[in-house]
Amino acid sequence: MKPRPEGNIVPEPHRSLTYLKVFITSLSAALSLIVVAIFVFLYGRVDSQLSQRMREQAVAYHDLVMHARNWNYDYGGVYVLKRPGVEANSYLRRVGIDPDATVGGETFTIRNHAMMITEISRMSERHEGVRFRITSLRSINPDNAPDRLETEALERFEHLEEPVSRVEHPAGKPPVYRYLTPLKADRTCLECHRTQGYRFGSIVGAVSITIPIEAMIHEAKTSKILLVIAGLLVLILLIGVSYVLTWRLVRKLDSVQRRYVSLIATDELTRVRNRRSMLRRLDEECERSDRLGAPLSILLIDIDHFKKINDTFGHPFGDLVLRRVASQMKAGLRGYDILGRIGGEEFMIISPGVPLEDAVLLAERIRAQVEEMKVVDGNRECPVTISIGLATFSRGVTTPDLLMRRADEALYRAKGEGRNRVVAG
Ligand code: GH3
Ligand code: MG
Ligand code: MG
Repeated sequence: MKPRPEGNIVPEPHRSLTYLKVFITSLSAALSLIVVAIFVFLYGRVDSQLSQRMREQAVAYHDLVMHARNWNYDYGGVYVLKRPGVEANSYLRRVGIDPDATVGGETFTIRNHAMMITEISRMSERHEGVRFRITSLRSINPDNAPDRLETEALERFEHLEEPVSRVEHPAGKPPVYRYLTPLKADRTCLECHRTQGYRFGSIVGAVSITIPIEAMIHEAKTSKILLVIAGLLVLILLIGVSYVLTWRLVRKLDSVQRRYVSLIATDELTRVRNRRSMLRRLDEECERSDRLGAPLSILLIDIDHFKKINDTFGHPFGDLVLRRVASQMKAGLRGYDILGRIGGEEFMIISPGVPLEDAVLLAERIRAQVEEMKVVDGNRECPVTISIGLATFSRGVTTPDLLMRRADEALYRAKGEGRNRVVAG
């Protein structure tokens, strides 16, 4: 069997689907990667923003504590009325300072900077839960003795004067943020702690800030959940939209491709198949018949004295006759018969599965229908007849070329025997 010359230009629709799958998969993978990268970045930023927020709060409290402490010191401590419940700072006595003073019959007691900070911290802890205090490895007041993290930080401050911070999750208690900065000995400290051997500028202790962060952590968790949901939604949306758009594009391309294929297989004038398409189909049908052993007949049809029709009625009328003959034959065919125009006024019908006797009946029916057809030009009627030569694919006729030649010989005989007839080759 001859190779089909134009076989390769016919696109296979399933190929488009494969391309589509590969394209959509790659596009979706690329989009997913970008979206995931963006959301992982944002997810990471939630944690870094939380740390930043905690640190900023701690620094704000720290600065406030230090300002309050210096304010108190600048006044040399502040005296408060010693009402019931207001205790004197007994630790001052230990360093040789009398905390009480009587003026006009009323007793006042001094609130130095250390005690003021302790009392404000208690108040703050009751309201916002934030604690702050000054602690030292050699504290006079046992309440100011450092805990584990404070001890660790104080030891570290000996050689590195940088703030220490940590998130702690105490058992059975809400999480807290701890922030500690070194406290250098200045005039405010030396007043009481000189006896402990501190020198000006040496590290005497730490300012320790403790901030409850349960609400902040909860907020960050909610942000993360919202981010994951938003990420997923964006991902689904992007993949969905790209899928739909690509699908529509491929559908459009497929229909354009189909239209193009049908255009290159169609005869422009008569809208039936053209010669190239008919020869390809003949190849395919011969191959199938050969493989299955099924009968196959072809009919070569030629309009009689067509030149005379052109000469008498004009070329445009000749075109009309070609169109009318084509549509008349098409109307008389069965679904599986294939009709095409293979030359000027020559047509071919391929009838798969039809043996010679049935093909003769079919040809005779078509011939009669064309003969009965009325083609008029104004009030002049143009008689149109056709001659048909037919041949059947059989043992002796083994190639499409041979089949065509047999049908052509039969057509030639039909013309010779007087036209408007059917001859089997
Ligand atoms: P016969 O009965 O022996 O077939 O005679 P014929 O006149 O039909 O055959 P011939 O081959 O002598 O003439 C065919 C004519 O068909 C010649 C050509 O001008 C005309 N023809 C070919 N293609 C077209 C076409 O597309 N339109 C028109 N109007 N005429 C065409
Ligand atoms: Mg001819
Ligand atoms: Mg002719």
